[in-house]
Amino acid sequence: MAYVRLGDMLIKNKVITHEQLDEALSLQKDSGERLGTVLQKHGFITEKQLIDTLMNQIGVEFIDLNSYSIPAEMAQILPKNIAKKYSVVPVKAARAEVWLAMTDPLNFMAIEEITALTKRRVIPMIATMSAVERTVQNLYSNQGAIRAIQDMQKDLLGSQYGSVNTVTNQNLMVDEDETDAAPAIRLVNSIIERACTEKASDIHIEPEFERLIVRMRIDGTLRHIITVPKELQSSVISRIKIMAKMDIAKKSVPQDGGANVTVYQETIDLRISTLPTIHGEKIVIRLLRKTPELATIDGLGLSGDNAIMFSNIVEHSTEGVILMVGPTGSGKTSTLYAIIDKLKRDEINLVSLEDPVEYHINGICQVQINEKIGLSFASVLRSVLRQDPDIIAVGEIRDGETAEIAMRAAMTGHLVLSTVHTNNAVSSIDRLIDIGVEPYLIAGALKAIVSQRLLRRICPHCKKPYTPTKEEMALMGIYEGEYQFYKGAGCSECFNTGYRGRIGAFEILTVTSEIRRAIHSKSLKELENAIKNTNFKPIIENCKELVLNGITSVEEVQRVLGS
Ligand SMILES: [Zn+2]
Repeated sequence: MAYVRLGDMLIKNKVITHEQLDEALSLQKDSGERLGTVLQKHGFITEKQLIDTLMNQIGVEFIDLNSYSIPAEMAQILPKNIAKKYSVVPVKAARAEVWLAMTDPLNFMAIEEITALTKRRVIPMIATMSAVERTVQNLYSNQGAIRAIQDMQKDLLGSQYGSVNTVTNQNLMVDEDETDAAPAIRLVNSIIERACTEKASDIHIEPEFERLIVRMRIDGTLRHIITVPKELQSSVISRIKIMAKMDIAKKSVPQDGGANVTVYQETIDLRISTLPTIHGEKIVIRLLRKTPELATIDGLGLSGDNAIMFSNIVEHSTEGVILMVGPTGSGKTSTLYAIIDKLKRDEINLVSLEDPVEYHINGICQVQINEKIGLSFASVLRSVLRQDPDIIAVGEIRDGETAEIAMRAAMTGHLVLSTVHTNNAVSSIDRLIDIGVEPYLIAGALKAIVSQRLLRRICPHCKKPYTPTKEEMALMGIYEGEYQFYKGAGCSECFNTGYRGRIGAFEILTVTSEIRRAIHSKSLKELENAIKNTNFKPIIENCKELVLNGITSVEEVQRVLGS
């Protein structure tokens, strides 16, 4: 390929001016970055303009990595550090050629080095930066683990006693490029790193008869990630137990521990537990991020009227009870954290009672409930009330005693935030009455009820529109007209599920004086009428919006809400 200058091409195509080029060139001298990067950073060109110019001027082909599935063996063609160094990824290879997706196909240094390394002619293609980064991450995701396993097996062959239990390195920084660490450390680190990039909530390391299985909970579902040969089981488990500061000699009793790791600049708390099973110790690692994905108001996925109602309630309440309700896994605890995060300030005393404390939040006082030593929600709540609180978060209302203290606190000028395990707003009022709270207390204290579910988002990489059937439209309460729904076809990005990530669906009930009267009189009919007179929209309305906007599918709504 002849030597072409990007700047000249962009000027010729009237994408930038001479002045902009001069400015970019001098900026480039300082930063040492590639010209294309500098031009984009300073807003002179967009990524699309750059790609179009390169396609037209030097004839490189554009490759849409989102819809192209790269064979796993491409990871063997080019090492990860080179792929990352030049932002490139091999997409296809023949005996004498390798097709290379590049963010900068004019980077001749990259092409030369990769030609020498692969002993193949490089055919450059162009791709977007974000697509290349993601693809590199996916392509090499298991590579570190697989290499570590191979190294461990080699070590085993060389060791007379067949054990690598001498792992004492306490460096818990997970750095993918550490090559001199013991293989067991590298394997465990690469498993944790993978869990972070997959945004997994838990890692399960499960001994079976002939192997050790590693699974991760991603978007609420366990997924198989890698199988580790049985002979490496004891090294892997010992390594994790050392990290967790457990007694590695004790193998027949359950143990609990924890560790802190830093992955991609993010500090993550690991809650680690073991359980002796017939095939060895099973380990579960819970990953607790400092900034959980859904635990900010913006991250919850509230939209339209719901977003307005929610911020009104959160920002303008100084007393009363705000309840978050939903079944297990509905995201109500994340919502509770999001409200806490929003309300915490220097001027107020915010105390949070939690079982367990899932995230550490700066600027508030968190108490771990521990029934075994007498720290029940009710007893801690009584103590907290003697400490001049403004806002009290009660992790969960499970019993009448806690509920009653919370309601009384709310009626004496405190704002109480809590969760109740029920299906919807109305049934949470029933539940409070069932556990023995006097209706007048509920009526007097309750301010608002936020009921929610978590729905899986359609995977953006394989999302496709389709014309829904009459039945599907009816499920969303639509009986006529032409609509488009969406679903994910399934791809490597989403483990062929068609879903990636989650979003909350909500119904918000603001308690009006009419609703208070209805609660007081214990009449369900009156309550239903009173709710009709508010701007309450049942959760299905929110789900319908999400379906029509292509964020989730009708199957997912049906799975989560039932029909
Ligand atoms: Zn997909």
